[in-house]
Amino acid sequence: MTIELRKLTKRFGSLTAVDAIDLTVDDGEVLCLLGPSGCGKTTTLRMVAGLESATEGDVMLGGKRVNELAPREHNVEMSFQYYALYPSLSVAEHLAYPLHAEKLSASEINKRVAQVAKTLQLEKILRRTPSQLAEGEKQRVAVGRSIIRDPRCFLFDEPLSRLDVQLREEMRGEIKEVLQGLSRPTVIVTHDQLEALTMADRIAVMRDGRIEQVDTPHNVFQSPSNLFVAGFIGTPQMNLIRATLKGADGAGVAEFAFDGDQSLKIKVDPAVSRLSPGAKVTLGVRPRNLVMSAEPTEDSLSTKIDMVEPMGAETLAHMHDGYHSLRLVTDWRVPLAEGDHVHTRFPPNTTHIFTEDEQVLRSRP
Ligand code: ATP
Repeated sequence: MTIELRKLTKRFGSLTAVDAIDLTVDDGEVLCLLGPSGCGKTTTLRMVAGLESATEGDVMLGGKRVNELAPREHNVEMSFQYYALYPSLSVAEHLAYPLHAEKLSASEINKRVAQVAKTLQLEKILRRTPSQLAEGEKQRVAVGRSIIRDPRCFLFDEPLSRLDVQLREEMRGEIKEVLQGLSRPTVIVTHDQLEALTMADRIAVMRDGRIEQVDTPHNVFQSPSNLFVAGFIGTPQMNLIRATLKGADGAGVAEFAFDGDQSLKIKVDPAVSRLSPGAKVTLGVRPRNLVMSAEPTEDSLSTKIDMVEPMGAETLAHMHDGYHSLRLVTDWRVPLAEGDHVHTRFPPNTTHIFTEDEQVLRSRP
């Protein structure tokens, strides 16, 4: 069973909420739709569930177009952030509830409840009602209720947004484990990148109704395909600095000039040799990849530390060179003080280059 979206589009009047997206989610795969508020994540999910009609394009489930079918016939399970549990029903009754409509025998229902309770470690609390449950247990009951019917695929809309930070961390792992064991396609909508990076097999990053990149969590982080994904994924945010290419050799050693007359020379992707001297680019470097040096080097910018933020094992330094702000993360033991002048070295190979059209410059696709 796969979910396949082909040129899927949704317009609300003059607003294009979802703009010709193509996406395939395979059996057993967990795909996270990630993007800022209003980018079209929920609308996409609702079209898969049949709760919203597509303006154009196809929703294919298991190779069959389902656009015209009623939501029930899509046979998908959609869970929302607000998991309403009935105060008078026990955990076992909540789990059994979706099965009553399927007209299963009592023994089959009991068997499935026992299976799901085991998967989600609810066996010891099957007789309890919601008022006797902790938040994480309620969340697990909600997940159990979603998976018990054995639908063709699972759709989750911000499943963890109601939970506190610690519980989210626990549940991310738990839900991922459960979903991996189900061999069904799953789509999770979230605006929380940590949730996407930890739970997804692949992430589709959305902006303004379009998919900007679909890739593994590792690749969207390490190899963003454009400026938007580079800036959206990763905390603290990637440094993105405007520069002008002075020149480059065939091996990718390039010199860049910055506002304020500073320049630096570093090895970047050899594709830089495709650009002409004078080309405007944006250099992207993760704060954890920048390195401090006491002495000036040909690959560094001279900067001043504005603010030092301790973050436990690491320290975040906010610095500037008079024209650009930079963020650098280093080990907490490195002594840093506001007002210090330091030289900030750009790393070879992990400095990304984005061209004027905001796309990454890369030799390999
Ligand atoms: P959020 O994370 O805030 O839920 P989202 O990425 O899920 O955002 P959608 O809810 O899909 O975004 O909305 C996409 C766009 O479509 C938004 O601009 C929203 O205002 C608009 N929209 C959604 N539903 C409707 C509707 N029924 N009528 C008109 N506009 C709508």
